[in-house]
Amino acid sequence: MRTSKILTLVAALFTLLASASAADKIPAYSKADLTAADKLRERALADPSAYQLITSLTTEVGPRPAGSAGDKAAVAWALREMQRLGFANVRAMEVVVPHWVRGEAEFSVLSPWPQSMPTLALGGSVGTPPEGVEAEALMVKDLEALKALPSGAVKDRIVFFDNRMERTRDGSGYGRAVTVRVSGPSAAAALGAQGVVIRSIGTSDERFAHTGALRYVAEAPRIPAVAISNPDADALVRQFESGKSVRVRIRSSSRELAQANSANVIGEIAGTDRGSEIVILAAHLDSWDPGVGAIDDGAGVAIMMTVAKLINGLDQKPRRTIRVVLFANEEFGTSGSRAYVEGLHGEAERHVLGFEADFGAGPVWRLSSRVNPAQIPAVDQIFRALGPLKLERGNNEAGGGADLDGLARLGMPILDPGLDGTRYFDVHHTVNDTLAKVDPAALRQAVAAFSVSVWLGAQYPGGWERVATQKTSRR
Ligand SMILES: [Zn+2]
Repeated sequence: MRTSKILTLVAALFTLLASASAADKIPAYSKADLTAADKLRERALADPSAYQLITSLTTEVGPRPAGSAGDKAAVAWALREMQRLGFANVRAMEVVVPHWVRGEAEFSVLSPWPQSMPTLALGGSVGTPPEGVEAEALMVKDLEALKALPSGAVKDRIVFFDNRMERTRDGSGYGRAVTVRVSGPSAAAALGAQGVVIRSIGTSDERFAHTGALRYVAEAPRIPAVAISNPDADALVRQFESGKSVRVRIRSSSRELAQANSANVIGEIAGTDRGSEIVILAAHLDSWDPGVGAIDDGAGVAIMMTVAKLINGLDQKPRRTIRVVLFANEEFGTSGSRAYVEGLHGEAERHVLGFEADFGAGPVWRLSSRVNPAQIPAVDQIFRALGPLKLERGNNEAGGGADLDGLARLGMPILDPGLDGTRYFDVHHTVNDTLAKVDPAALRQAVAAFSVSVWLGAQYPGGWERVATQKTSRR
């Protein structure tokens, strides 16, 4: 027994020594690469470019929903700005996009106590006849509550989904709440509803609604769907709490036009000895139309373009090619990223590492990843280089964003400098998504965190191996 204990101890010691020597073998960054990372961080913290880019995009282009004149203007803007910043291989990759037009919308409570409430059609919603759709309303919390209703309860009603989104730093509250917006209209229609009104999937207590895409299923009739603000949803709940029958009317002139042409706009900083490997920086060029898309996703566009500009300004060139892709139509069906993946023709594996910025204008608060477990020590090294920015160390379960979802499903590793989403959903998809909501200092910090991470991602002396597991995006 004594002998076996000693043997166990000896075996444990060997395991320890073996793992220590494995850690020694992890390829370490050169002094020059780490010095350049420090330089990038310092330059980013003093560089006004990202704020200038959001200012330019929101002033000179403004709202740019898929298929609109603003969408075309945004493509021209991005081509011009990438050329001005000195990127290589600047090009537009044509993408066919849906062209939905919002029109005007009205939401009114007719009884017990008549009131009109500011409203927005959900993206993709059909319109109503000019006189609107009028019905007795039915209040449910969410899809589960809808499904639990007795059969026939929903027929001919307008369904009010009352689920309130929870405020979180990592955006998980949105992921939990958003299914009502995406799937609620078809779920209600399948049970015979005439229309849907939802409590906005947002955290603001201001009196404006939050839009965003719905997704109709083929099996259910297409019914109109609108959103009202949190304070108006509270007021509507009080009408229901009276116990009296609540009648409401939805009016909307939303409609879908013929598909249109848009484009993914692409620019690169050419790599050197590992130049055939691509580190992709993703953001989306389109926006919803009530605001001007400053935080969603003007900020992401500006962060990625500024990161590439700063790396291009170093004396040293990146080893891997850094490719900025500003995707078309993320908001209403991710047309751009789907076209990008379809157009790869076996080149998917050249995309060795991905970054996405589609969660506001900063600051960055943690570093997460979804890399092959063999490269977690590399992420640890990058995290150490980010030290002065005082981030938290996240886990290896990052989802990336919607635009990199396709590449991530093909096994591309993701590095995720996490943007702080605490106040993001006060503004996202609302009329208040304007330049006034961008804090220049937080934005510069975000550019610094992305710059260091992207640079060291491109310089990693080892290889970024593929990721085995399949994960879906959180947004
Ligand atoms: Zn977005």
